[in-house]
Amino acid sequence: MNELRQICRQNDYAFFFDIDGTLATLQATPEAVSIPAPVITHLTLLTQNLSGALAFVSGRPLSQIDELTYPLRGAAAGIHGAEIRTLNGELIATRVDPQQLCEIDQQLSRDIEPMPGVRLEKKSIAFALHYRQAPTAQQALHELANTIVKRYPDFKVQAGKCVWEIKPRACDKGKAISYLMQTSPFIGRIPVFIGDDMTDEAGFQYVNRQQGISIKIGCGESEATHRIDNVTQLYQWLDQLANNNINLDTMRSV
Ligand SMILES: [Mg+2]
Repeated sequence: MNELRQICRQNDYAFFFDIDGTLATLQATPEAVSIPAPVITHLTLLTQNLSGALAFVSGRPLSQIDELTYPLRGAAAGIHGAEIRTLNGELIATRVDPQQLCEIDQQLSRDIEPMPGVRLEKKSIAFALHYRQAPTAQQALHELANTIVKRYPDFKVQAGKCVWEIKPRACDKGKAISYLMQTSPFIGRIPVFIGDDMTDEAGFQYVNRQQGISIKIGCGESEATHRIDNVTQLYQWLDQLANNNINLDTMRSV
């Protein structure tokens, strides 16, 4: 009976997970990142418990989200919300001028050429300038990204961990979560969002406005109302969550 009540309660909630630094430990390159198999099992179980009200909300494109979370393939938001897929498979993509994308690509490729260790990641309608392998390039890359968005105001700069991203201005994770919350089976539920980075703050702010549960992984300033110390601790929490051993009602910020 107790167990049944927990399941019912859990079914009042909708879960949104960032991936890098949240469900997966950060690595030297984005390609080296993976989510351990037991974590995928727990996420699958949780998705079943929630009747599908679980979505990944990442800076990565949907295609990479699907690879990292295989065999799960439900609702998701990629490129900080520039690509959204609802549970019934509807795709919503932000449109940007392909000519501008081409020009930005050319300028970034040219300008980072003399910067060893800097990596340009192209994400169909966004760009990431990674400096994990070249920490001294941080400032120069920030200036480069700012120059680009000054010339192309449909884009904005997003700070991340050892990365500057140039992404469509209209998109953020808060808007992506808000959009999914208006679709089935998320509609009418209480949102829970777990993230680790500056890009997740828009998501935390949205969730806080909905009296949901916002959880930041790690330290640093944040509007999240809850903290989990690191990725390993999140894995333990997820294990308990998937097995209905966490009472989410006690975590709500009302
Ligand atoms: Mg992250």
